[in-house]
Amino acid sequence: MKSPLMSRRRFLQGLGATGLAAVAGWSLAKPALINPCRAATPLELQDSPWLARVWQGLDPAQVWDCHVHLAGVGDAHSGIDIGPQLSSPLRPLQYAQRLAYMNGGCANHRGSVDLAYIDRLRNLVEAMPAGFKVMLFAFDRFHDDAGRPSPERSAFYIPDAWAIRQAQAFPAGFEWVASIHPYRADAIDALQAAAAQGARAVKWLPAAQGMDPASARCEAFFNELARLDLPLIVHCGEEKAVKGADTQRLGNPLGLRRALDAGVRVVVAHCATMGDDADLDAGPQVWRPSFELFARLMNEPRAQGRLFGDISAVVLRNRRVRVIQTLLDRTDWHRRLLHGSDYPLPGILPLISPATLARAGLLPRDAVTDLETLREHNPLYFDLALKRLLASNGQGFPASVFETRRFFARPSNKENTSTI
Ligand SMILES: [Zn+2]
Repeated sequence: MKSPLMSRRRFLQGLGATGLAAVAGWSLAKPALINPCRAATPLELQDSPWLARVWQGLDPAQVWDCHVHLAGVGDAHSGIDIGPQLSSPLRPLQYAQRLAYMNGGCANHRGSVDLAYIDRLRNLVEAMPAGFKVMLFAFDRFHDDAGRPSPERSAFYIPDAWAIRQAQAFPAGFEWVASIHPYRADAIDALQAAAAQGARAVKWLPAAQGMDPASARCEAFFNELARLDLPLIVHCGEEKAVKGADTQRLGNPLGLRRALDAGVRVVVAHCATMGDDADLDAGPQVWRPSFELFARLMNEPRAQGRLFGDISAVVLRNRRVRVIQTLLDRTDWHRRLLHGSDYPLPGILPLISPATLARAGLLPRDAVTDLETLREHNPLYFDLALKRLLASNGQGFPASVFETRRFFARPSNKENTSTI
């Protein structure tokens, strides 16, 4: 009988892992390319001093991973839809990315991808100390200026209803985050419905979904978000994971001023740590790193108590070491940073290199082996452990960065009070 690992490898090789390796410049001979998807925390790590440090001074019941993607192909009546850009072999990069996502989530079993992805995620959360939760992202379609959905321009679609179902099926480990395009005719109704059904935030990816946060068209949506006290998680900076349109400019951190002025609590995904954007204060021709623009916005009075950043994906290989150092060094920002993993990305083995971070002086060298072993078993735990151990000149992230529940489960949201 074939082992699951063997059939997984065959599946990947048959459907394009070679293309994936070629695109990314990796060799299939490297054993770390494919995530072996092992279960639970292994015995060999039970006495790891590094893992013991992860939970020191941390209350697991307060630790919510605020950036976790749902994924699938729509094979379980989930309503999930994959756009042509992600499903066609004629677009090798996006196609390979989809396979990599599926491998990262260990869901590449033909015929039941949607459920396998959820089962794997639940398995990972159950292996964590009781109380730990993940926040699952829905993902709305691209909409045009008239507010019409455009499936052909959408990278993928994860309905709110699918995220709600998962959160209701496993309330001990799953929370959910709505995704609602503000140009939809029913946007306010959908937002109120999401709040009533316990959504902890709303997620936008403007470059892929086509909304412009700087536009006056978002004003009513922002006002309602502020009234409901629901945070808006927005991806800013360059977007590589999904390509929805030629709309990278919509992810400019400076475009968030309107939301802040409306009183919305805004979380910038990845702290805008990748790409460049137009410095709108200097003129459209001046470009600066998106992270620099995020830093500028953080300093503005309108952002105090309203602008936050999640630290998901900031440790990926495509981020500069200097950016990670800045996030660690800026202790004045720490109360405004929130832990997120960007799962399944931490499960895609070549994307994060603990050894490189150790060489840069940001991780203890002796912790690298244990972290790499942990990643094979539990990417969520791996991402948390790695960030708990990160330090620059002895300065790490405080516990408050990881204890995000207080931010997303505020008493002012009456739907949330019963579970606090
Ligand atoms: Zn993400």
